[in-house]
Amino acid sequence: MRTIHDKPLHSSGVRDFFSKYPGFLPQQDTLLNCKWSQRWFSWLQASVEEDTYTFQEVLQGRSGAEVMINDMPFCMLSSYDYLGLIGHADIEEAAIDAIRTYGTGTGGVRLLTGTNQLHEELEKSISHFKGTEDAMVLSSGYMANLAVVAALFSNKDLVIADEYIHRSIADAIKLAGITAVSFRHNDPDSLEQVLTSYSSTVRKLVIVEGVYSMDGDICRLPEIVRLKEIHGALLMIDEAHSLGVLGPQGRGVNAHFGIPAHQIDIFTGSLSKAIPSNGGYIAGREEDIVYLKHGGAPYMFSAAATPANTAAALAALRVMQEENWRFDTLWDNTHLLIAALQEAGIRTGLSATPIIPVICGDNESALHLSKKLFDEQILATAVIYPAVPEGKARLRLCCTAAHTPELLHRFVHIIRRVR
Ligand code: PMP
Repeated sequence: MRTIHDKPLHSSGVRDFFSKYPGFLPQQDTLLNCKWSQRWFSWLQASVEEDTYTFQEVLQGRSGAEVMINDMPFCMLSSYDYLGLIGHADIEEAAIDAIRTYGTGTGGVRLLTGTNQLHEELEKSISHFKGTEDAMVLSSGYMANLAVVAALFSNKDLVIADEYIHRSIADAIKLAGITAVSFRHNDPDSLEQVLTSYSSTVRKLVIVEGVYSMDGDICRLPEIVRLKEIHGALLMIDEAHSLGVLGPQGRGVNAHFGIPAHQIDIFTGSLSKAIPSNGGYIAGREEDIVYLKHGGAPYMFSAAATPANTAAALAALRVMQEENWRFDTLWDNTHLLIAALQEAGIRTGLSATPIIPVICGDNESALHLSKKLFDEQILATAVIYPAVPEGKARLRLCCTAAHTPELLHRFVHIIRRVR
């Protein structure tokens, strides 16, 4: 009998594609007659030729500290599974039970026929965990950001976002046609300059992330909250990488700084990182949630989170609170890895959290380093321009509670050798 292991594995067909169509370039009269396609195909071809393409590697089985690729064990150093909860027996059981009770799909969008008891329970759990009045669950964190920005703001308003804000927020701003300006990354002085340079009558939304997804630094929330209050602005925090990571029991960035949740206007987050499921949430005031459940397009026009995903997220929230040792291990590992890399003379940028960039400079350097590590059976993915500013390409390492100190030391030993 054939199993998945018998199939040849490719990086999502990219290598295969260029062996079939060497030198391929998009033609004028096709779908690919679009702005970036020539550039992408030239780049893809070069990285396949130089053998530096290590994206979309196909994992056999679960993700975790150790994964299988091409029937070989690899050390995973770029997974968002911060608490090491992928594969937790209680979470898997909850997902399987949910399928038995509720089926595999929801048969609709949340607003119409797609809401079930698990969604309600998860929303109560999230709002309780975050200390907000209410919460709503959507099918991804991307959708959550889109829902908040596009449903609550328009071209009459001003969005003031950190320059390194996530793509989903940038897309939401574009979609809603909102005027947006950015302030220097995590710099309250720069935010203050922007806030003072616009009329006090314009409605302003400041958007930050709890932990920045590319640099791993923590948002300077106390100063930002002070500024938003002085200038009468609203504040949205994307907690995709801070929920489950910062604050007591992982309650997030405001808890980390001891700031009550009601001082933040609205939170968004993902259920696919520290919480090992899929989906997104919005948490905030009751009236805002009621409105977003009727005015947020991604909630109304995209399928509800599946029963398995919803139940897994619910179980994970409970496990997180029961297994506090995971936070201690996550942070012990984080401190160990940052210190060991710095001792080895490796630049880790602004990182103060489990997201640890290894700054390489140009795209090629980051890709080559990622490939050298791949050859040593280590998966540490490169993040390159345009996902990060030009000249700041990097490996983005993510520490988790599932790593062991031995494994992290071995990684540092190897990166020091191959760099
Ligand atoms: N916000 C940030 C900061 C993210 O990093 C991500 C995903 N990487 C998202 C939002 C989107 O979350 P999801 O994957 O659940 O759509």
